[in-house]
Amino acid sequence: MPNYESKNHRGFHNDRNDRRQHSTDNHYRPTNNRRSNNRRRETPQVEVEVGQRFPLTIKRMGINGEGIGYYKRMAVFIPGALTNEEVVAEVTSVATRYLRAKIHRVRKTSPHRVEPRDSYADQVGGFELEHLDYPEQLNFKRDVVAQSLERYQPEGYRHYDLRPTLGMDDPYGYRNKAQFQVRRNAEGQVEAGLYAERSHDLVDLPTCSVQMPVTMHVMRAVVAMLQDLDMPIYDEEQESGIVKTLVVRAAAHTDDVQLVFITNSPKLPHKHDLLTRIAAELPEVTSVMQNINPGKTSLVWGEKTEHLAGAEAITEKLDGLAFKLSARAFLQLNPYQMEVLYAEAKKALDLQPGETVVDAYSGIGTIGLSLASVAEEVRGMDVIPEAVDDANANAEANGITNAHYELGTAEELLPKWIMTGFHPDAIVVDPPRTGLDDTLIETLLAVRPPKLVYISCNPSTLAKDLVTLAHDYRVDYIQSVDMMPQTARCEAVVKLSRRV
Ligand code: SAH
Repeated sequence: MPNYESKNHRGFHNDRNDRRQHSTDNHYRPTNNRRSNNRRRETPQVEVEVGQRFPLTIKRMGINGEGIGYYKRMAVFIPGALTNEEVVAEVTSVATRYLRAKIHRVRKTSPHRVEPRDSYADQVGGFELEHLDYPEQLNFKRDVVAQSLERYQPEGYRHYDLRPTLGMDDPYGYRNKAQFQVRRNAEGQVEAGLYAERSHDLVDLPTCSVQMPVTMHVMRAVVAMLQDLDMPIYDEEQESGIVKTLVVRAAAHTDDVQLVFITNSPKLPHKHDLLTRIAAELPEVTSVMQNINPGKTSLVWGEKTEHLAGAEAITEKLDGLAFKLSARAFLQLNPYQMEVLYAEAKKALDLQPGETVVDAYSGIGTIGLSLASVAEEVRGMDVIPEAVDDANANAEANGITNAHYELGTAEELLPKWIMTGFHPDAIVVDPPRTGLDDTLIETLLAVRPPKLVYISCNPSTLAKDLVTLAHDYRVDYIQSVDMMPQTARCEAVVKLSRRV
């Protein structure tokens, strides 16, 4: 499983993985290339070479959105191909048990194929399904959850209710955060974008249909400023230069926009000129920060963040509450579907007055604080100090006195709270893609809260965790919510009830 927090990974990072910076697999590096190289040394099951072409019928879609067909009984993964299409495939890599290929030609086109809005959609990650019509994207996501659960066949979960995916009316322009690498190309032009699949080649993105328009407007204007001011852009090979990454995050329900320069050193040449131009030309930018991440590293963000201009954080509104958001704190990438997701989480929790609730993996406290008016007490935790500070500040700013957030891991803090006599009636867990820690699952099984809701951004780890939880819980239903249209990512809210 790739770590999107790493710059090495192709395409869009998924913010849910920013969290991994502090989780146990912080050092997880993308291994796709290494893995296939290793396997290439073994003998594949059939004689086949890179570059070879053959006709292929696509039988189904894989969890990453690729089409899957079979060549002499070997699975062939082919990005961009759709179920029931007939294509001429061209082999791009050969592993022992499977092949990767690209489309040479489509011979029979799926009725669900549409023209992608982004011309580079087949080059960078994050647009895996842009060629599939939206209703079919929603079916695909539900199906991925079904496939993942089927693979694990959790005992006792045979009759769960898997509900149709809740999608967007307009599945574009939703992404509140653009995190683009910058580079100076051979012609001396500053470019900003994402890495091409399985490479370190930057694809410049002048437009991007899934981004909130304001994020792209600010991004491109800042790129032009870097060019005009002849700013030293970081060069990975030479390990020289300053500006590595630009991050623009916008709030959907206030007019706040934050711009962050991630730099190789605390220095920011032409700082004064740059900030003057930003103030004059980009009045929509309300906060400018600098994050320092020295040297060659696979992580995008460094530990230190400094204030350059405007406010230090931006504010997003949700459900009548205001949420302060620091540069490094996690917030769902799709502010419109965030409301849908949380409404589903609330519905599944069905919290009653007087009940206590734990908001585990809380980020800036969005879920717990929106439950605070009903709950007797809310406790939450996160491993990012800024996020925990934001969560507590958000409680205070919204006049909430019965919610408290602590810094630490869910697996350490939950048992600690239990030991001191806190027995929550309900727990909502919203872990990173890696799923729940074994210790946390043990604690859940020991504590057996009557109400348990699992928000998952990775059906594979969800399925695995549900197997263990099946001992004490049954799945009432699974509601998938499309948080990232045009990508293969799935999010799901799972309502569990304790077996008596
Ligand atoms: N519930 C929040 C955040 C979800 S993202 C929201 O909806 O916005 C998951 C969060 O888990 C991240 O903020 C990350 O920092 C945090 N995290 C990662 N590993 C953790 C762990 N072991 N214990 C607690 N929090 C963790």
